[in-house]
Amino acid sequence: MPQHTQLPVAVIGAGPVGLAAAAHLAERGIEALVLERGARAGAAVREWGHVRLFSTWGELTDPAAERLLARTGWTRPEPGAYPTGAEWAERYLQPLADALGGRVRYGVTVTGVSRAGRDRVVDSGRQDQPFTVHLASARGGEDRSAVRAVIDASGTWSGPNPLGADGCPAAGERALAAEGLITYRVPDLGDAAVRARFAGRRTAVVGSGASAFTALAGLAGLAAEEPGTHAVWVLRRGLGASTFGGGEADRLPARGALGLRAKAAVEAGHATALTGFRVAAVERGGEGLVLVAEDGRRSAPVDRVVALTGLRPDLSFLSEVRLGLDERLSAPAALAPLIDPNVHSCGTVYPHGVKELSHPEEGVFLAGMKSYGRAPTFLALTGYEQVRSLAAALAGDLEAAHRVELTLPETGVCGGAGLFDETGAETGAGAGGAGGGCCAPSPALVQLGAAPAARGC
Ligand SMILES: Cc1cc2nc3c(=O)[nH]c(=O)nc-3n(C[C@H](O)[C@H](O)[C@H](O)COP(=O)(O)OP(=O)(O)OC[C@H]3O[C@@H](n4cnc5c(N)ncnc54)[C@H](O)[C@@H]3O)c2cc1C
Repeated sequence: MPQHTQLPVAVIGAGPVGLAAAAHLAERGIEALVLERGARAGAAVREWGHVRLFSTWGELTDPAAERLLARTGWTRPEPGAYPTGAEWAERYLQPLADALGGRVRYGVTVTGVSRAGRDRVVDSGRQDQPFTVHLASARGGEDRSAVRAVIDASGTWSGPNPLGADGCPAAGERALAAEGLITYRVPDLGDAAVRARFAGRRTAVVGSGASAFTALAGLAGLAAEEPGTHAVWVLRRGLGASTFGGGEADRLPARGALGLRAKAAVEAGHATALTGFRVAAVERGGEGLVLVAEDGRRSAPVDRVVALTGLRPDLSFLSEVRLGLDERLSAPAALAPLIDPNVHSCGTVYPHGVKELSHPEEGVFLAGMKSYGRAPTFLALTGYEQVRSLAAALAGDLEAAHRVELTLPETGVCGGAGLFDETGAETGAGAGGAGGGCCAPSPALVQLGAAPAARGC
């Protein structure tokens, strides 16, 4: 693989995984060019900075990054503590980016990746060409950089799924979102202005992942102080043992606890579950907004809707390179079967690297959150292992590239093929993993965003 070794490796995104990639590349003596559209490191993480992570500090830092930081006098946070997104950015991501120095460029958005002088169709001389990364600067300028390889760690934060159960915006969704009545992120109820919008009001929370759990728990807390606050929890599936995640069987206890807090919100009457409900439309009535399901059922009126229905990757700027993506998840084809919530996978996703992340276009990789496509179970630890392997491969150290150096925590949630989305679906397995034959990772990790994506609809 190594060619054009005088050129840097482009890393798209100065998030946790992009920065870790740069640290691993630096350790291997490979020049990295980190391209970040935000003004600071961890721009996406900062946008959900009010959310407390379910991973501990010990699970959120990359080994090569720590080695680099150690040289700057950085103090490692207490490994057993749980930071918020804002703390992750301030105490780790920004110091790491600062330690990487001039390798990180801010305020540049990658708008295209191509082989120099070869569009996607052209075979002739393709392998011998370096890549061109096309950039748009925050000030309106355009630029290009020649690079030897591209690690796209741009995440999926900018692509929240819409409300519509068919993957396109529900009827009426766009207009109500433009008015701010439908939002796509966990509300920051610690902010007085946000809190006032939800206090004493009825809110529909749509989705069944960790972010929906977080929103439900937050609204339940608000209900205890502000009478009249109530959540309508809208799920495509039914309520059952695995609806609330792995609970105490989750090897990440704080992740398990999120589901238990959502369960407590329902049991305390602060949230009413509307199950088997596939949203087709949102209508404005005299008493508020009403969600309409594909089967014609209608929700009780609510004042606003919080859509936490997952995220999807932006592949538009990769249109001129040859990717091998799974047709369901838009994840690399060899990785997808390990993470597809429709497909059984026993235990949990095994650590993976260059082998699973390679594409027909040699030298282009999706890493981090983006490598999971639409699958919702990504953990930062997985990304750190991915980029360790990629940096080793780019350095020509294939033994290290194929070596597994990580054991990932299991979710304790079991599901069967295709069952996660079925009405009333339970595998009989429940938390703990017995029953359905195999354990699958919970499709319940990362579900919130900033604006509806609905790319292609
Ligand atoms: C609310 C929430 C809670 C979470 N909790 C946990 C947890 O407890 N534990 C855990 O392991 N994981 C958790 N995650 C998952 C978490 O998002 C990831 O672990 C981590 O942020 C992924 O890092 P990343 O670098 O892949 O992507 P991101 O953090 O999304 O970073 C991508 C970066 O790329 C930049 N970018 C995007 N597009 C472009 C472009 N075209 N050009 C240039 N730059 C671009 C963005 O501005 C951003 O800075 C959580 C996620 C959310 C949303």
